[in-house]
Formats: sequence, structure tokens, C-alpha cells
Amino acid sequence: MPVTQHNYSVSNRNRLLIILFFIAGITIAHYTMSHTVIYLHDISRRLYYLPIILSGLWFGKRGGIYSSMAITILYFPHALFSWYGNNPRYLDNIIEIIFFNIVGYLVGVYIERRNIQQQQNEENARKLESAYRQLKTNSERLTQLEERLRFADRLSILGELAASLAHEIRNPLGGIQGAAEILRKKIDSHSTEAEFVDIQLKEIQRLNKVVENYLSLAKTDSVDFTPTPLHEIVTDALELTRISARKKKILLETHFPEQSVVVLANGLQIQQVILNLALNAIQAMPDGGKLDISISTENTTALLIIADNGPGIPEEYKDRLFKTFFTSKKEGTGLGLSIVKRIVQNHNGKVWFESDESGTEFFVQLPLADK
Ligand code: ADP
Repeated sequence: MPVTQHNYSVSNRNRLLIILFFIAGITIAHYTMSHTVIYLHDISRRLYYLPIILSGLWFGKRGGIYSSMAITILYFPHALFSWYGNNPRYLDNIIEIIFFNIVGYLVGVYIERRNIQQQQNEENARKLESAYRQLKTNSERLTQLEERLRFADRLSILGELAASLAHEIRNPLGGIQGAAEILRKKIDSHSTEAEFVDIQLKEIQRLNKVVENYLSLAKTDSVDFTPTPLHEIVTDALELTRISARKKKILLETHFPEQSVVVLANGLQIQQVILNLALNAIQAMPDGGKLDISISTENTTALLIIADNGPGIPEEYKDRLFKTFFTSKKEGTGLGLSIVKRIVQNHNGKVWFESDESGTEFFVQLPLADK
């Protein structure tokens, strides 16, 4: 593992120039100064430590060694010259040269060790940070799971409540409906009373629908899954929407592949999914339009697309669409899409949508039976 990187960037080049400048300056001083001013020689000789230490600091072991070797080569003739001049200080000079090399080497080694340590510290800091990030993601996931658990809890309480309430409500509602129908037959169709009874009957039907919706949301998930051709479920579901589609002048179109697409599903539940999505689409096009249902396959899954050319879903609704009780309709329950999501997830599938001002597409992905 390389410890220092000598990539000769501008700053490294400048460092090299500073070192060369020092070495050259000190060497010239040595060779040009009079031999008689020994103390000046002593000072400038020790100045060599400056470029040696700087080289070690900036370029590591190699820097320290190269600069001390260069100084040795440059300074050696001067040391020899002193000897030939019969100057007893030559020994000092030679010892100093040895020290130059020792200092160059030691500073370099020290810096390289420090760099390794620094790299290790940085590596540890990186690992610590990634562990911290992992911990944060896990705790966020845990919070999400907790929220889902609480939601499931609320749903199951709601489920139990709805199941018991539904039975309590349905029977008297049936009685009220029966009585209202008898009454309606006996009243003159053009009278004000008939109008009231019609309203009564309409409201009873609405109440019945609400109870049914609550019941399907509350239904337990232990249902049977069998291989079922998807186009059959779509056709059955569309049969139930035909009347309201015709009333609103909506054209129903289907695109099925030649080969039957068989999914592992509970037919009735998937029919409920298609019905909810198709009814929403029909309600989104009160002045007519086209409802297009297509089936295709993608690897190991079947893809069902329910598309309308209504006004699209407003941006501010998009995040809340699948939330239980979210509705933008005056008489809506806000249960349709949460039932869709619950059923699809229970089938190990996925549901999502894309929407703009030219219409809305709901996508339902389900696992293929033979995969
Ligand atoms: P509800 O139909 O009772 O309002 P849903 O859960 O089925 O409840 O739908 C929630 C909301 O999603 C609707 O009130 C509507 O605003 C919006 N929505 C669903 N499908 C469509 C669609 N095809 N086009 C436009 N808006 C839609």
C-alpha cells in the first residue's frame, strides 16, 4: 500500500522548488564563503537540516533519504576540501553528513508511520460512519414497521368492530328496506311521499354499501388461492360495471393477450380489486370517456392496467390515496383503494398508479401461477 502519493500537483512542485532552493542556496554559501569564518560555515551546515526535514515531512521516507543523499553528494567535496586544507574540522563535517542521512531517514519513517496511522484513523472513521448510517436506516425501518404494526392493530380492532357491527346493522337495515319497498309500491309515484321513500331507499343502499366495504376490509386474510385465468376475473368484474358505464357514456375496452394469463389468486378478491379500480375510473369520468383494461406479463408476474381518461389525480392527493378513509368525494368512504392495496399485498403483488391531466392508470402486479 503506497503511503504518500507523489502526484506532483502544483503544491508538490512548489514544495520541491522550495527544497531545491534551500539546498542550492546553502551549498553555494558553503563554497563561496571564506574558510576563515568557521562559525558561518557551522551555521550554514546546520541549515541543511531544514530542507532535509521539509523533504521528510512533505515526501515521506523517500523524500528524506533523497534530499539527505543529495546534500551528502553536494557537501562531501567541501568536507574533503577542508581535510585537504589540513583542517581538523573535517571529522565534524563527516559526522554531520552521517547525521543528515539519519535525520532524513528518521523524519521520513516517522511521517510515513504517522500517515499510515492517519489513514487507519480515516478508515475507522469511515467504517464508524457507515455503521452509524446503517444503524439509522435500521432504526427508521423499525419505526416504519412499528407504525405498520400499529396500523395493522388498528385495522384488526376495526375489523372485529366492523364484523360485529355489520351483523347488528344489516338485519334491521334489511327490515327497513323491505318495509320501505312495500310502502313505495303503495304510494302514488308522483307524490311527494314517493320522493321521500325513494330517498330513504337510496340511503339504505348507501348504508348497505358502507357496511359491505367495512366487512371486506375486516375480512381475515386466510383465503384460498387457486390458479385463475386473469381475463375471466376481469370480464366478470366488468359485467358488474357495465350499467353505470353505459349511463355515463363510457366506452369499455379490454386488451387481453392471446395466451391466457393464469395467476395464483382468490378470484373473488381480485374481482373486488378490479371492481373498485374500475368504479373509481368511471366516477372520474362523469361526462363520458374510455375505460381501458389490459393484461400483459412481465417475467414471473402478470400486469393488469386499468386506465381512464378522466381529469387525473390532483398532486396534493397523491401521497394519501391509499390511506384508509381518504376520499375526495362527497359520498365516498375512502375505503376502496385501501381494500385494493390490502388484497393485492395479500397476494404478494404490488399496486401503484401514474396520473396526469390526461388520465390515470392503475397498475396491479400479481405472481403468475406457474412461477
Ligand atoms: P372513495 O372512492 O370512496 O373516495 P377510494 O379509496 O376508492 O375511496 O379512492 C380515494 C380517492 O382516490 C378518491 O376519492 C379519488 O379522489 C381518488 N381516485 C381514485 N381513483 C381515481 C381515478 N381513477 N381518477 C381520479 N381520482 C381517483
